[in-house]
Amino acid sequence: MQKGKIGVTTENIFPIIKKFLYSDHEIFIRELVSNAVDATQKLKTFASVGDYKEELGDTTIRVSVDKKKKTITVSDYGVGMTDDELKKYLNEIAFSSANDFLDKYKEQSNAIIGHFGLGFYSSFMVSDRVEVITRSWQKDAPAIKWTCDGSPEYTIEDAERDRVGTDVILHIDKDSKDFLEEAKIQELLKKYCRFLPVKIAFGKEKEWKDDKYVETDKDKIINNTEPAWTKKPADLKDEDYKGFYRELYPMADEPLFNIHLNVDYPFNLTGILYFPRIKNNIEIQKNKIQLYCNQVFVTDSVEGIVPEFLTLLHGVIDSPDIPLNVSRSYLQSDSNVKKISSHINKKVAERLHEIFKENREDFEKKWDDLKLFIEYGMITEEKFYDRAIKFALFKNTDGKYFTFDEYENLIKENQTDKNKNLIYLYATDKDSQYSYIDKAKAKAYDVLLMDGELEPHLINHLESKFKDSRFVRVDSDVIDKLIEKEEKIESRLNNDQQEIIKMVFSSQLKGKDSFIPVTEAMQEHDSPVIITQSEFMRRMKDMSKLGGGMNFYGDLPDSYNLVINTNHAIIEGLATDVQKEIGEAVKKQDESISSLEKEISATEKSQEGKKDEDITQAEKDKLEALRKKRTKAEEKKKEIVSKYADKKPVVQQLIDLALLANNMLKGEKLNTFVKRSIELL
Ligand code: ADP
Ligand code: MG
Repeated sequence: MQKGKIGVTTENIFPIIKKFLYSDHEIFIRELVSNAVDATQKLKTFASVGDYKEELGDTTIRVSVDKKKKTITVSDYGVGMTDDELKKYLNEIAFSSANDFLDKYKEQSNAIIGHFGLGFYSSFMVSDRVEVITRSWQKDAPAIKWTCDGSPEYTIEDAERDRVGTDVILHIDKDSKDFLEEAKIQELLKKYCRFLPVKIAFGKEKEWKDDKYVETDKDKIINNTEPAWTKKPADLKDEDYKGFYRELYPMADEPLFNIHLNVDYPFNLTGILYFPRIKNNIEIQKNKIQLYCNQVFVTDSVEGIVPEFLTLLHGVIDSPDIPLNVSRSYLQSDSNVKKISSHINKKVAERLHEIFKENREDFEKKWDDLKLFIEYGMITEEKFYDRAIKFALFKNTDGKYFTFDEYENLIKENQTDKNKNLIYLYATDKDSQYSYIDKAKAKAYDVLLMDGELEPHLINHLESKFKDSRFVRVDSDVIDKLIEKEEKIESRLNNDQQEIIKMVFSSQLKGKDSFIPVTEAMQEHDSPVIITQSEFMRRMKDMSKLGGGMNFYGDLPDSYNLVINTNHAIIEGLATDVQKEIGEAVKKQDESISSLEKEISATEKSQEGKKDEDITQAEKDKLEALRKKRTKAEEKKKEIVSKYADKKPVVQQLIDLALLANNMLKGEKLNTFVKRSIELL
């Protein structure tokens, strides 16, 4: 027996590593099995070039758990190791690289967790002793056994083994006995090893025999050695891609499309990405892409490797060129990672464009499930935007789809306003905005349906991209003002009449502070009263709901305009009636208000520039009294108007009709409206 000591500087790095890697002990299984795979593949290569002349035989890697002996064994029929190689690879290299690793990452325990870099040494995270029984493929090499407890001391002695290859036997320590559960190992193999390229057996297949399950002598293979992404796209059919998707996500809906990535220059990358059906709520859809390094599972969080919006995709990316033993912030600045990221970005856009060109009908059918993804990409990635404008679609309220160019052509003629701005009309809800959509259509305008989660953001984005264009929601103004044309409609009511009419309506808007009456000269046949909400305010509120950092707007109450059509016969009639019934009384108040106003401003003028102490108390009192009088006269006027309006159910009726058209009349108010309507009939 030989004894030796490993040349590392730190006397006992084992406990330190154990502590640092606390949360990720499970990776030992990935490391040991991938070493076994490497060794097996090496031997296969030697055999194929004729360096190894023996029969290869079965090369299945076997993982087994012995609960009684408290061991986990990983056995392979790979190249094995000679005495020298054992010392070199397991002692000098494995131990010293663990040492280096620790040196480098002492400060950032987070950086170590979950990444490569420890290899064989990671077995000491769960074991208090590790044995390696190995026989090298080289001619007449004897079997030897290496034993080590994680301290720099080790022993090597003769051993028995008929075939070439290696058994790594872990004597699991008492803190790690969870790993002695078969189910646990099964789970870890499934997680890390399910697509490794050499067969891996864990236990035996079971068979139903004499009323119970009994073990057969057939190995239970846990991996698919040839996952779809490693094959040539030409060798795969649509069904194969779908089958692989089901293998990855047994519970998910069928994907919309897939992209097969296959790059070998300037970096290596393979993989298959799938477009899932994305319903609302983006967050839960994220982080489904699995990242592999030569078919070894590494992680399923790919932020930093692909652009944010691509994390909505599903599937697999495999690249030996992504540096995995580094921290996330390093990853983001790595030039290979940047290239990979922009390559995927480009591929995804190209594939979508292809699908769009090949089968537009199908693309349109899938658009509603796909749009969130594309819109997300357009808003967040400039490069993707530039590519996506060729295939991104608008959908109008009739369910028709248009490319951006097509749509611009469609509306150019009719929806350009007098300032040469192209106005894109949109609705966010076909039902509640029905009456507005209807009015717009009556003018031969087209109305887009923008009901997606990201569309408020998209609209802002498109406005910054499209030249001389604005997006305006159909209910944000009266129809003639949505798209202002040259011809201006004259109002049949003069300014005084308009003021009084506003007061009449204002007096009946009891308790509805958020409604502001305004008058507007519309067409005769337009509604007498309608409700609009300013595009700007509504948008700001929508954005603040989405978390655009505009909380100020989010806190403001909703505010609406109650727009009175001064050219509608009912309003005109009302104005005439007002004149007849309270015209004189109002005029009297107006006169006294205006004479008071004159007196007030004269007094104010006389006091202008004077210091407070130079103004006499009498003068101050006089001004105060005048102001009070004016307020009184104004109140009196309001009272006259209000008393008048109280007796005119038509005013309430018009307000309620406008609310009703907007889906805003509910409960008791709706009931009152119905009753009043019957009375009026
Ligand atoms: P890496 O796999 O990155 O080289 P490891 O620490 O995992 O680092 O392994 C160190 C070396 O030990 C390997 O490069 C290999 O030469 C040798 N080795 C480990 N496991 C085996 C095995 N099962 N069969 C043959 N050689 C092995
Ligand atoms: Mg390794």
